[in-house]
Amino acid sequence: MQPHFYATSGFDRMAHFRDDDEKMENRLKADDCLFVPVWNDRVFTSKDRTTPRYFSYAELDALDLQSPQMIYLGQSHKGQTLAAVDISAIEPLDEQDWFDDHLSCVDLRGAGLSLSADDASIIAYAQTLLRWHKDAKFCGRCGTRTTSKSAGHARRCSNDDCKTEHFPRINPAVIMLVEYEGRVLLASNPNFPEKLRSILAGFVEPGESLEQAVAREVWEEVGLEIENIRYHSSQPWPFSSSIMLGYTVTAKTEAMTVNKEELSEADWYTPADIAKAVDEEVLGLPRVDSIARAILDDWIKGNT
Ligand SMILES: [Zn+2]
Repeated sequence: MQPHFYATSGFDRMAHFRDDDEKMENRLKADDCLFVPVWNDRVFTSKDRTTPRYFSYAELDALDLQSPQMIYLGQSHKGQTLAAVDISAIEPLDEQDWFDDHLSCVDLRGAGLSLSADDASIIAYAQTLLRWHKDAKFCGRCGTRTTSKSAGHARRCSNDDCKTEHFPRINPAVIMLVEYEGRVLLASNPNFPEKLRSILAGFVEPGESLEQAVAREVWEEVGLEIENIRYHSSQPWPFSSSIMLGYTVTAKTEAMTVNKEELSEADWYTPADIAKAVDEEVLGLPRVDSIARAILDDWIKGNT
């Protein structure tokens, strides 16, 4: 099975190098090192958003930033050293200097679909880690400032009595396709665009297994008991620093009670219902870069 969009493939993270400061410095300053610049969660691409814009160390140096956060990402399958750099300290980005006919500074959500899967996964990896650095500036245990370590893959509290190490946070979420006698449950929530329908999802809570989280979410959202929980695949989802763990499940009964605080509506659809509604433009499906769409497409293929 192909890895999902935003999952780095053909890429070596070289984790064993991260604590070797000298090696790291040499790697980052080498001529062939490419930096993924991130400016306040936004990434840089060509004007048509099909190609990422990387910086060399020399270009980065010329920006004259005071110790920007850098992260060693690893080696690409093309043999390039890749790193991430936070350039948010440039404020504001001057239109004339930065945005000519060749460059865009865009939200990853807007650029993700036009980049190749490999490029999108590397940019997502860079952006997710840099956002974590901003969120983890202070120690959650004692409140003292933290500093970056392990080439940007950890932070340590600078209070000598504490020294707690902090690691990038990933939020596990379950996403599940519920089926019942050849039909699939699709729902919308108040935050969705009007016509969008998707499968159910929710965050895993402390003290529960993934299977329990799947059953709880379905019960909370549509009041259905389920069985036959089958793992499908997983996807890192950079927009919420999540790992989406995908399942298919079978409902024990058809009649549901939609929780109106969480969902605006939910209904059962056959593959033919979906095709017709999409054709008539009364139904929108999840983004093609999402695991929601991949699970749904797989289910439709197996049921048509
Ligand atoms: Zn501390």
